[in-house]
Amino acid sequence: MSGRLHIFVVAVLSATLAAFLAFGSITWANDRLRIARVTLPAPGSVPALPAVDADDGRPLVVIDAGHGGHDPGAAGQGLVEKALVLDLARILRDELEAEGDVRVALTRDDDSYLLHEERFEIARRLDADLFLSIHADSAGAATEVAGASIYTLSNEASSEAAARFSARENASDRLDGVELGDQNDTVSTILVELSQRRTQERSAEFARLIQREGDGLLRFHPQARRSAALKVLRAPDIPSVLFESGFITNEAEAERLASQEGKRRFAEVMARAIRIYFARQQES
Ligand SMILES: [Zn+2]
Repeated sequence: MSGRLHIFVVAVLSATLAAFLAFGSITWANDRLRIARVTLPAPGSVPALPAVDADDGRPLVVIDAGHGGHDPGAAGQGLVEKALVLDLARILRDELEAEGDVRVALTRDDDSYLLHEERFEIARRLDADLFLSIHADSAGAATEVAGASIYTLSNEASSEAAARFSARENASDRLDGVELGDQNDTVSTILVELSQRRTQERSAEFARLIQREGDGLLRFHPQARRSAALKVLRAPDIPSVLFESGFITNEAEAERLASQEGKRRFAEVMARAIRIYFARQQES
């Protein structure tokens, strides 16, 4: 009898322990999940549009501060990319507004997160003429790496984006004032490709101007001009450039980017590049 009772007690204790462990770990896992969970915008959702001056004939530039919210981006030397680039975006906006030649909108003016698609979708919905995404780089332990880079969309990614865009069945899609829904598939594909090619040329022109105007004023990476398959640059009808303002893992660069002087210099160079870009567009 005592043998059976012993087995029974051990069995009950084991079951209790197992249940406790299982329940306890589920509770713990739930807590962990709750901590890790972030609210992401639903795919395809329409982002809130920033306020912008009424269209009075002046071109519109949309400035996108990278990252935000739960996505801090790069970090180094006490700087966090999402905060630094928001600062740069705001200073550039103020500089452009003070000059008054162009209208300006920011994709985000606070610490909120936006999907890549939402960032360029904001520019498309506002009928922007130029899109500039601002970022800062990190090189991990390679703290000697420094310098700004200017990215445009790679040709490969560009054709792929054009194909995807023209394949979308949304009849309300407009491109350069043409309703794609009114066109047959072949015409629609040709229109998207033409638009994309022109957009690519203009993006490259803007990238060249940033490099030219920044010469001697900003520090560029030895390979300053790059192209990559960056999602945020995929609007087929808005010239788009992503500016990596520098490596915040480099002490001197982080110090310069964080300083008022460094930020002002960035804003002056970029505002001049933007102004010249639009002046040339009006000539052509
Ligand atoms: Zn970034």
